[in-house]
Amino acid sequence: MAWRSSGTTNASLIANLSKNGLIQSTRIQEAMQRVDRAHYAPRNPYDDHPQPIGHRATISAPHMHANACETLLEYLKPGARVLDIGSGSGYLTAVLANLVGREGKVVGVDHIEPLVALAEGNMAKSEDGQRMMREGQVRFVKADGRKGWSEDAPYDAIHVGAAAAEHHQELEEQLKAPGRMFVPVEEGSVQHIYVVDKDEKGVVVKKKLYGVQYVPLTDAPSV
Ligand code: SAH
Repeated sequence: MAWRSSGTTNASLIANLSKNGLIQSTRIQEAMQRVDRAHYAPRNPYDDHPQPIGHRATISAPHMHANACETLLEYLKPGARVLDIGSGSGYLTAVLANLVGREGKVVGVDHIEPLVALAEGNMAKSEDGQRMMREGQVRFVKADGRKGWSEDAPYDAIHVGAAAAEHHQELEEQLKAPGRMFVPVEEGSVQHIYVVDKDEKGVVVKKKLYGVQYVPLTDAPSV
């Protein structure tokens, strides 16, 4: 199903993802329409495939980005504050920023400086992206995402775009009550997406969704 959603334009990719039920919300449809994946993926940008972006990083497949947004949607209201850990290409950061709007804020964190610069450069390819960075609707920072980004905490939603070796306590602490985190977690030789929900009283519940293959959330390379 996922691979059948490829398109020849940004619009046809999004239309196919919707037709195949991988995007269900019109809000996500509109947000993904506003971000041209060609600004973020070096080759065949409208294929529903992940692809390498250098520095051992990968831009995730569009259906994974769509699913992350669908999963977090009720916490991505206009004005919400969002943390995107392992922001890589910056594509999802840009889509999230469209979902939370001008009153909202999305912080993209990556531990590789050239990828922080890549994400900024990618966003700057559109006027809208330039405006979002100028006005602080989007900000990219270099940091170890395992510790989150306390400066702008707490967050309505946290997306983790790399597989964590464990459930990092600091990320849970940086979630609002209520708030939701989407995080791939390594368990032996396999990885699963977890949804971590914190309710109004601060009670945290973790739900395992499905198996995935992400780049590890790890130490920064020493070179
Ligand atoms: N959401 C991104 C995914 C990029 S791949 C996209 O679709 O483009 C995963 C990213 O996680 C890589 O850019 C990698 O540099 C980053 N990463 C890995 N470990 C990290 C850590 N400890 N802190 C911050 N970023 C990390």
